[in-house]
Amino acid sequence: MDAAELKAHSESLEAEGPEAILRFAFARFPKVAISTAFGPEGCALVAMAAGIRSDLKVFTVDTDFLFAESVALREQFIARYGIQVEVLRGAVSIEEQNQKWGVRLFERSTDQCCALRKVEPTRRALKGLDAWIAGLRRDQGQSRAGIDILESYDREDGTSLVKVNPLARWTRKDTWKYLVDNAVPYNPLYDRGYKSIGCWPCTAPVGDGDDERSGRWGGQKAECGIHTFMSRKA
Ligand code: SF4
Repeated sequence: MDAAELKAHSESLEAEGPEAILRFAFARFPKVAISTAFGPEGCALVAMAAGIRSDLKVFTVDTDFLFAESVALREQFIARYGIQVEVLRGAVSIEEQNQKWGVRLFERSTDQCCALRKVEPTRRALKGLDAWIAGLRRDQGQSRAGIDILESYDREDGTSLVKVNPLARWTRKDTWKYLVDNAVPYNPLYDRGYKSIGCWPCTAPVGDGDDERSGRWGGQKAECGIHTFMSRKA
């Protein structure tokens, strides 16, 4: 699909809901996978997609710094929806990371720690895919406000990858309505003041009026790097 065709499809999908966008992605891209950290958006997407296609390809990254609740939710999803979830970990173990970069690297360089624990395994998971479905929403903050439903990226090996954002138009409220209406499991930490959940060292509960991603990395950055390490084509 060339750039003009991708843009035209993306614009026409603006009138569609996430389910129709997922159906489009499954029909159009033979090698397609959903990535999720089992946040509310990922839970909604995986539940929705599992109802469309039984041979769903889902991958998730386990940084070895996840909350126990997040790991339990992943197992709950596998059992509930009967899906295969590929769990990826960094090529460098925590022990190797500690030896080379020192313990508690996340206190000195969240960029380096995220590169080792999140970006490297994500980069590996995306190899060979035609398309990558992610749970980004425009209203999650400034860094995501400009996303399109279909985007094209250049990989380092020179190949292209289409990123599909079926929830781009959804709000936080839309997401939670879907979860509640469809009795989709979610991380119980969301009932304890968290609005966005990643690794335990870099995630804090926030106040009612606070930006939803402000509890991540102490507000020092908004993205771990998995959505920014590739160059988006113009
Ligand atoms: S979120 Fe924190 S603990 Fe997790 S990979 Fe990034 S820096 Fe490391």
